[in-house]
Amino acid sequence: MAHDEQTQRFLDSLPEIKPGQSFRFRCHPQVSCFNQCCGDLNLMLTPYDTLRLRRALGRLGHASENAPENTPMPSEPFIRAHVEVGVYPQSGYPFLHLRMAEGPGRPCPFVRPEGCSVYPDRPAACRTYPVGRATRVDENGELVEQFFLVREDHCAGFAEDGEWTTDTWCSDQGLPRYNEVNDRYMRLMSRQRDRGPLPQKFANMALLALYQPDRFRDFVRDTGMLARLGIDAAEGERLLADEEAALEFGMDWLELVIYGDNARLRPA
Ligand code: SF4
Ligand code: SF4
Repeated sequence: MAHDEQTQRFLDSLPEIKPGQSFRFRCHPQVSCFNQCCGDLNLMLTPYDTLRLRRALGRLGHASENAPENTPMPSEPFIRAHVEVGVYPQSGYPFLHLRMAEGPGRPCPFVRPEGCSVYPDRPAACRTYPVGRATRVDENGELVEQFFLVREDHCAGFAEDGEWTTDTWCSDQGLPRYNEVNDRYMRLMSRQRDRGPLPQKFANMALLALYQPDRFRDFVRDTGMLARLGIDAAEGERLLADEEAALEFGMDWLELVIYGDNARLRPA
């Protein structure tokens, strides 16, 4: 996933887990520290984290009134209720930061005595813990990933059984789809490297396309964008079939409008 500089510095201070190396860990409701790590967090939400959290909250009854089953919570009330919107100073890309609840320990708004209430759709950082994953795009355009072990004193999970490599851990935690979309997002943002902050107009487009796929779909339909891109109705339906497809289309569209090229889209 993409990191801010502070997170990158934190990861760089940790022991690296090399390919094939293993670590021991298991977290479950019987550990003495259960839920203690779900508070006072500096938790950035990637676009895909946001999409999945809204999906979980829709299932928990926060979709619009009379919405069909499995409709995600709409993005506008989600943003109002749960996040602060910030801007990466170097790139000008917007980011979302999960707002912790008020009160002792500033708990995550989704933690309950029995555990994480959004567990099937919890953010990538929660899945990856106690591993940290850092990615960057190298000078040849290749994505380079590194893993680190976050061994914190309060975490009793290291004394439990369970032997993992980073591959088996990522797979067990359902990370491949998260990493796939987050890496695509990282590649998009890396194109802004050395260009200075995005102009406000593009930052607004990025907020819409990356974090509000529900509103982005309406925007695409209302503005006739598909026709201008030479996309026929059937293909348009496929590109906007669901929020995951709309997010991927949104990243293609941002690449086209901000950087002037995209492998899948051509300006008409
Ligand atoms: S989203 Fe779930 S796992 Fe992540 S901090 Fe909140 S309660 Fe914990
Ligand atoms: S601190 Fe470690 S063992 Fe305890 S609940 Fe969190 S991840 Fe699990």
